[in-house]
Amino acid sequence: MVSRDEEEVPAMAQQQLADDVGAEPRDVPFNVASVVGRELEHVQEAVASGHLSSGGPFSQRTAQVLAAETGAADVLMTTSCTTALELSAMLMDLGPGDTVIVPSFTFTSSGLAFARQGAGLLFCDIEPRTLGLDPAHLTTLLDETVRAVVVVHYAGVACDVEGIREVMAEWPDVRLVEDNAHGLFGAWRDEPLGSLGRYATLSFHETKNFVCGEGGALVLNDPDDVERARVLYDKGTNRHAFMLGQVDKYTWKDTGSSFGLSDVLAAYLLGQLEQREVVQGRRRRLHEHYAASLAPLAEELQFEVMRVPEDRSPAHHMYYVLLPHRDRRNDVLELMRKAGVQATFHYQPLHASVAGREFAVRPTECPVSQDVSDRLLRLPFHNELSAADLDRTVDAFVDACTATLWDR
Ligand SMILES: *Cc1c(COP(=O)(O)O)cnc(C)c1O
Repeated sequence: MVSRDEEEVPAMAQQQLADDVGAEPRDVPFNVASVVGRELEHVQEAVASGHLSSGGPFSQRTAQVLAAETGAADVLMTTSCTTALELSAMLMDLGPGDTVIVPSFTFTSSGLAFARQGAGLLFCDIEPRTLGLDPAHLTTLLDETVRAVVVVHYAGVACDVEGIREVMAEWPDVRLVEDNAHGLFGAWRDEPLGSLGRYATLSFHETKNFVCGEGGALVLNDPDDVERARVLYDKGTNRHAFMLGQVDKYTWKDTGSSFGLSDVLAAYLLGQLEQREVVQGRRRRLHEHYAASLAPLAEELQFEVMRVPEDRSPAHHMYYVLLPHRDRRNDVLELMRKAGVQATFHYQPLHASVAGREFAVRPTECPVSQDVSDRLLRLPFHNELSAADLDRTVDAFVDACTATLWDR
């Protein structure tokens, strides 16, 4: 149904085999989740402390780092970005009759989390400049049933925040949810990504910039949400208030679930976040290298490089290019893979998926999402890419583009 980048990576295991046999040079992997700092030391400390469940000292420290970054009222460390989105859906008490507007060009969770709470979905197209939600399409979708609009900062580049704010100003009760799985440490003008919505969610899945295997966070930007969010987060209990000494016993108060990230994983994540300047610096240099190598060839070889509008500081989640059409994109991908470089495509539009059609309150047209999905190609992008890997990737891409230039 929907392709997920993480499913395209297990070539790593085969890699080890190839290395052991010592024959072929190793492939340039699409993603590698690397240890970058004191992760293992922190994990050892968490285990030794005996606090392995959620809400321990490492969860508090990671939440503090993230809250300071966005100026949030509170940050709740969750088991994934998907569950953080689910928690936001519970907080809004979404249910049948409510509608949530979701980009078609995103990962399933951006819609799934709201659909499983009982809301209907309306799929909105993206605009070609940032591949984020298109305000012009959004205007035509808003009505009295809409309770929330979800935005994604694709590749870590802020969507058209100004345009979306203008449209949403007419609908003050509709809440903005940032699925910020790509955008941590990026900014729109001088506003950090993750500080723009009433809620923002983060992912620390092994394919993201900062990882702990599986993990996420819910960023609460409105202090009014904090007390109830804490209850929903803690299996519907006021345990948090009890721990703070605000009440003298704790009890079942509300709906909720078990959303908390284990402190063992939070410890790993803290080790990653402590290195945020190093990691983001490395990723910025990868982006600059790809841009400098490829932009001068784009016209001649008929592809487009990823665009970053001037008022954005990207979070460098990935680097993508667009080929003129699907067949050529697929041919380029195949040639690159033959050359040992694991480039890949990305999301299949949700509005055309089996579940997307089932959960949509009505069909909508999202031609840009379809077009981009057909033409987009992502280059290997991770902290372990060497100068040699970069050269091989650029060469493989240029060779594949040259070989396919006159094919069709
Ligand atoms: C990775 C991703 C998710 C899901 O994150 P998990 O932590 O795996 O639940 C959701 N939305 C977007 C845009 C993503 O890239």
